[in-house]
Amino acid sequence: MRLLIVEDEADLLQSLALATRDEGYAVDTAADGEEGLYKALHSDYDCIVLDVMLPRLNGMELLRRLRAERRTPVLLLTARDATRDRVRGLDGGADDYLVKPFDLEELLARLRAVIRRHKGQTTSRITVGEYELNLSARTLSKAGQAVALTAREYSLLEYLALRRGSVVSRTELYEHLFDENDETLSNLLDVHVSKLRRKLGADLIETRRGMGYSLAG
Ligand code: CA
Repeated sequence: MRLLIVEDEADLLQSLALATRDEGYAVDTAADGEEGLYKALHSDYDCIVLDVMLPRLNGMELLRRLRAERRTPVLLLTARDATRDRVRGLDGGADDYLVKPFDLEELLARLRAVIRRHKGQTTSRITVGEYELNLSARTLSKAGQAVALTAREYSLLEYLALRRGSVVSRTELYEHLFDENDETLSNLLDVHVSKLRRKLGADLIETRRGMGYSLAG
């Protein structure tokens, strides 16, 4: 999953980027509203974490212009006493909000929930063949036994699982699994796919030649 974090407080931006990368997200950042809007309109993010008080273009205006073109989920960060912002934000198409200062665990949980809802997934568990994916704990198990995956392997499997039943193109996978700082070597995706196949069996991820990948079962 790929996030955009728009926040002008450098320390907070840095710590949010670190924490979400640790969770396996690909993360782009923007330090003002104009840069944020540009990125939001030019990449396909799974969620945008958007501070309301921003230089150059405030979060509300960014949200308004984004909604004219895209349905990307938005999680607003608002000030404690700014009830009006929260109401305006939700009415303006934000998917959820958090009041500053917030607990990191809560931010991560809300992110997962917003992304899940947007992809039409109501529960946090997905069965794939003989495997079970736990979207809250970000773990995979088989018959109750944990299967060790790297953060990237997990992210790839999770993305395919949330889009199960359809073929996901390589372009889409690149866009959602790697961020603006990742080297976009074309063989990188294949490496992760073949590692997953070695761990989970060759048949779980099907290659649709010329189209992309899909999950079996
Ligand atoms: Ca701010």
